[in-house]
Order: sequence, then C-alpha cells, then structure tokens
Amino acid sequence: MNRPIPGTVEVAVRHILSDKVTGFLVRTRRITWKDSVFRVRRPQSGKQTVELTCPVCDASLLAEVRTETRARRTRVVLRTLAALCTIVFFAAFAYAVHEGGKTLPEGQSLPTLFPVSVVSVFVTFVAAPVLFVKSRAYNGVSLLDAPKPRRLHGIMPVRG
Ligand SMILES: [Zn+2]
Repeated sequence: MNRPIPGTVEVAVRHILSDKVTGFLVRTRRITWKDSVFRVRRPQSGKQTVELTCPVCDASLLAEVRTETRARRTRVVLRTLAALCTIVFFAAFAYAVHEGGKTLPEGQSLPTLFPVSVVSVFVTFVAAPVLFVKSRAYNGVSLLDAPKPRRLHGIMPVRG
C-alpha cells in the first residue's frame, strides 16, 4: 500500500494507446491506455507548474499543482454543489409530477415553470453524480496546455 507523504501527491499520466469506435448499429468504443504514476511535490502556497514526461512517448506535459488546502476547499465546493443539485432535482421532480399530473380546465395551459422544472430534473440528474464523483477525486492537479500530444494524454488522480 502507498502511504501518503505530506506535501506530495500521486498522479498518473495516462497515455492513450488507441481509441477505436467499431460497429455499425451498435457502436462500441474501445480505449486502451497506459498509466504511469508520478509523485509530485505540492507548492507551499498558491499553485505551481510541474513538467511530467510521459514514459511511453516522451511527450512533456505541463501540470498545475495546487496546495492541499486549495484542493480540499475545491472538494468541499464541489460536494456542496452536488448536494444542491440533489435538492433541486427532488424539488423540481416533485413539482413536475405535481403540475404534470393535474387535470387542467379547458383552455388553461401549464405554468411556465413546468418546462423549467422538467429541464432542471434532467440537468441535475446528470450533474449531481458527476459533481459528486469529481468532489471525491479532485486532488488539485490538472493538466495544462501541452504540445500536440495533449489530446492523447490525461492526468488521473491516484487514490492514496
Ligand atoms: Zn505519451
């Protein structure tokens, strides 16, 4: 097991080997990659740019590293947003069901808030889990601009 070392963070440089979409009616996307784990030092304050070299293809990637405090704060913000999305989801869902289930008198249309609530249900249904997953994985390291092979690379968090 990897023990976390204070002031450092482990990230994986993901090199995408192939990304193929096969099939005609049923499309299957197959992505293969190779992860290489790096330990990067966090700055004392603010943020710092570090250069990581992909061991597979020698591409140099620039990553931005933030302090643990900043990373923790961002995780709290993301978690709060996820919680808010969940609340909005249930409220909008209850409202949509309530208004949509009503039998309207002739000539009366649904209130304008009805389509808004339907859209909110769909948006928050997708956003809440995404934000929640991000809030757990965010480690304060993000991939900055890099030369051309950037789109074939990613920086993934490593669970300590
Ligand atoms: Zn590479």
